[in-house]
Order: sequence, then C-alpha cells, then structure tokens
Amino acid sequence: MNRYWSKQLDRLDPYTPGEQPQDQQYIKLNTNENPYPPSLAVSNVIRDFEIAQLRRYPDPESAELIAALASYHNLDNPQVFVGNGSDEVLAHAFQAFFRQDDPILFPDISYSFYPVYCKLYEIDYRLPALGEDFCINLLDYASTNGGIIIPNPNAPTGIALSIGAIRELLADNPESVVIIDEAYVDYGAETACQLIAEFPNLLVVQTFSKSRSLAGLRLGCAFAQEPLIEALQRVKNSFNSYPINSLTSAIALASIADEDYFQQCRRQVIESREALSTDLRQLGFEVFPSSSNFVFTRHPERNAEMLYRELKAAGILVRYFKKKRIDNCLRITIGTETECEALVNALQSIL
Ligand SMILES: *Cc1c(COP(=O)(O)O)cnc(C)c1O
Repeated sequence: MNRYWSKQLDRLDPYTPGEQPQDQQYIKLNTNENPYPPSLAVSNVIRDFEIAQLRRYPDPESAELIAALASYHNLDNPQVFVGNGSDEVLAHAFQAFFRQDDPILFPDISYSFYPVYCKLYEIDYRLPALGEDFCINLLDYASTNGGIIIPNPNAPTGIALSIGAIRELLADNPESVVIIDEAYVDYGAETACQLIAEFPNLLVVQTFSKSRSLAGLRLGCAFAQEPLIEALQRVKNSFNSYPINSLTSAIALASIADEDYFQQCRRQVIESREALSTDLRQLGFEVFPSSSNFVFTRHPERNAEMLYRELKAAGILVRYFKKKRIDNCLRITIGTETECEALVNALQSIL
C-alpha cells in the first residue's frame, strides 16, 4: 500500500499468470498456448498490411470482424461482442451481469481469474465443490444465485459438460445470467452457441488465444441474445471505445477464413493429447479425461511439486497449482509430437 493509491487497491487480489520466462528456452507446456503457428494467411496479412492505416483509429464497432464471427457461428451481428482478449470480455461481463444481491456461483476448481474479478467489482461468490472425480454436480447450481460461470471444458481439469447438462443449467436458472467460458471448446466439447436462440440468459465466451494460435493478439468474443450483448457494449463504451486495433481485426479475419488450417491444428492437438494420455498412464499417472488442449494428471506415488521442479530443471515447464485439492496434480499443455516425446522421456528418467 502506498499513500498515493486509491483505497480499494488494498482489497484487490491480482491474477498470477503462468510463468513466461525470458531467460532460457524451455519446452513450454504451462500456459495452454497452441504449439503450432498461426495460419499462413495471418503472415500474409501482416506482410501486406497498409501501415498508413495505423494513423487512423480503428472501427469502434469492429463491424467487419463481428459480421465474420456472426456468420461463422450462424448468429446475427447484434448477437456478437468482441474484446481485447476473453479476459477483458469476462471482466466486462462480471461488471455487466454479476453485481447482484445474491452471490454468484462457479466451481471451487476452475479458472482462477474469476475470484479476481469478484474482488475488483465487489461481487460475492460461492464455490460449489467438484466431485472427487472433478466432475460438476448440477444440483449444486440449483440454489438462488446472482449468476453462474463455468468453463466448458473446465480448466484446469479439462473435463467437459454435455450440451444436455448446460441446457439443464440454463433452464434451472432463468433469473440468472449463465456464462459458459469456452476457451477450450474446440478441443472436444460442443459449443453452447446452439442454445442462444432458446435461452435469453446464456452468454458464451470464446478466445482466439488457444485453438487459433493467437494468444499474443489478444482477441476474445462473446455470443448471446441482443440484450446481453448490448449490456457488454455499454460497459465497453464506458471503458475503452477501441479495444480491437486495426491489425488485430485484419489478422482475425484471415484466421477465420482459413478453416482448413484451423481444423488441421485442432485435430493434431487432439491426436497428440490421446497419445500423451496413453503414455502418461503407462508411466503410472492417473490422467483425467480431457476435452481440451491440456491434460490434468497426478501420480499416486510422486509429489507433483517435486515433479514440476524436476521437469523445470530438465528444461520443461508444466503448470503446478499450490492450491487445496489439486496440489498433487499437474496441468500439462499438449505440445508438438516432439515436445510430448521429450516430456515423456524426461518423466521416465525422473521416475
Ligand atoms: C486462457 C483462458 C482465458 C483467457 O483467454 P484470453 O482470451 O487469452 O484472455 C479465459 N478463460 C479460460 C478458462 C482460459 O483458460
């Protein structure tokens, strides 16, 4: 605390991102980035980008990008919102929908940014516990609440809910906004976008950071019926009128247009995930069923923090959470085939 700071800064509990070490070349399997580069179409856009355009402010409405996303997801333009990374979209959504009298609900083990936004916006929350198998129990979300947010697939467990379960959740909570955070949906879960027409309380959030290999670009989006999108616009236009810069727009449009490459990368990651899960099980690890681009795993006889340290010493970064219930687990991002092999070899020699 410093005497110049606003009083409320004391209360904040900022997010700690996964390590992004600049000192050494690690095999980075700790922040769920895509192991493959963005589409070649993206390189071409950057090469051909008209630099003089940067003189101008970008389109505050991001109309072209919104139209492309709407068409990709079979939605209308007013049902789409874009922001500077899905973290920003989520922050706006917490501000727009979750400042209610009743506490909001999200699983005790999920994306650790959610409690950070709750602190920032003074939102009270409850944390229904996942089962021993790390699955969500829908009954936990049947009580009165000010809103619900669930990553699907969940992070860091990788476990997905079915569309049927999400429909049930939406139908059981008609008075609350239910946010489905689909950061990893392209790796094996079904998108809830198909439920938007049916449920006015549904907000689906997605990102270009994971399955589109564009974490450095900072682009996230949200899909919902028009009134919820309008709420996000109101917050956005009270915060930053130009969250999407012109180069980001052009790059995102190119990425959306290259569907073949997107599908190819997605399939490769899924294939590698299944191979890695098999290899880990052969080494004695318990691997939770993943629908994402990472696996959540633990070894019955080995301390996870020690494994994390030994892997780091061997030049491989994985994610370890010093957190109750999961402090004996590792979250390992799916890398290239070569990176996965290096991981398995390193674990073999550690064990
Ligand atoms: C990575 C991630 C995000 C944030 O993605 P950005 O678009 O890069 O801000 C949001 N939610 C979950 C669950 C994530 O894992």
